[in-house]
Amino acid sequence: MTLLDGKLTAQSIQEDIRTRLEKLLSAGHRRPHLAAILVGSDGASRTYVDSKEKKSLALGFNSTVLRLPESTTEAELLEKVIEMNLNPDIDGIIVQSPLPGHIDENKVTQTISPLKDVDGFHDINMGKLAKGNEGFVSATPLGVVMMLEAYKIPTAGKHCVVVGRSNIVGRPMSLLMSANSPYGNCTVTLCHSKTQGIGDYTRQADILIVALGKPGFIKADMVKQGAVVIDVGITRIEDNSRKSGFYLRGDVDFESVSKQASYLTPVPGGVGLMTIAALLSNTFKAYKNNLGL
Ligand code: NAP
Repeated sequence: MTLLDGKLTAQSIQEDIRTRLEKLLSAGHRRPHLAAILVGSDGASRTYVDSKEKKSLALGFNSTVLRLPESTTEAELLEKVIEMNLNPDIDGIIVQSPLPGHIDENKVTQTISPLKDVDGFHDINMGKLAKGNEGFVSATPLGVVMMLEAYKIPTAGKHCVVVGRSNIVGRPMSLLMSANSPYGNCTVTLCHSKTQGIGDYTRQADILIVALGKPGFIKADMVKQGAVVIDVGITRIEDNSRKSGFYLRGDVDFESVSKQASYLTPVPGGVGLMTIAALLSNTFKAYKNNLGL
């Protein structure tokens, strides 16, 4: 079994962006700028935003993080998003989810300019993805495809089974894997919580991509011998013996599935790091679009 190393792959993607950016900076262009909005003080969200900020700065991007209190109203948040839409110095905007219950997340997503929507959640970008047109693709599914590409894993003609149909992972993932492109071209089956006898589907997968948020859900007897298995799931499991008070577990039972799969992503160290690399890649693309390059 080959471990799909998110750290190494993400580093190499980021190095490539850095090299291309250095050329643009020496030609006198400004730096790319990623702006993030965080509402409230959810621990996991704070960690994600901090990590995106750190990686952006390390790459030579400018980074703005607007940290707003839990009590922020929907109108106040929308106003901040509109200000960022209008700021010509900002290339990409992300609003970290989950948002507090009193804010309509969809309304916020649809308010971000599709040209700065580096998370790829806007209806226009989802529509472009569905039609195979150029736009921004949601960072996690894009990161998975970048990983398959980096390891030169063939996809054409393969059967890809995606478990989970959320708008941020499963649904765009199924669209990407079925796209008529070098790293799509699979026959895709999309499973969800109403799928009957899910193992009958997952066992047919040449490429199995799992994003449901149920730790250890996929066991060895649900996986075909030699399958490529991508674990998107990240769940914090409480563990008082650790300094952090938790550890991370994926949706795949790593121990048993590692004996069955040909390629497998670890958690942590797999898709999570690729998601950030894909977000930075989307931001660089938005920046180049803004510069007219
Ligand atoms: P979500 O919005 O809760 O969606 C979960 C999906 O799984 C839903 O489509 C649901 O089906 C399906 N599902 C739930 N139980 C199931 C079951 N027993 N059998 C089959 N399908 C089932 O979650 P999400 O946002 O997509 O996230 C999924 C996981 O990925 C989470 O662990 C999350 O933390 C992780 N994640 C990781 C990254 C990363 O960077 N690595 C990024 C995003 C998310 P229904 O539609 O029928 O309810």
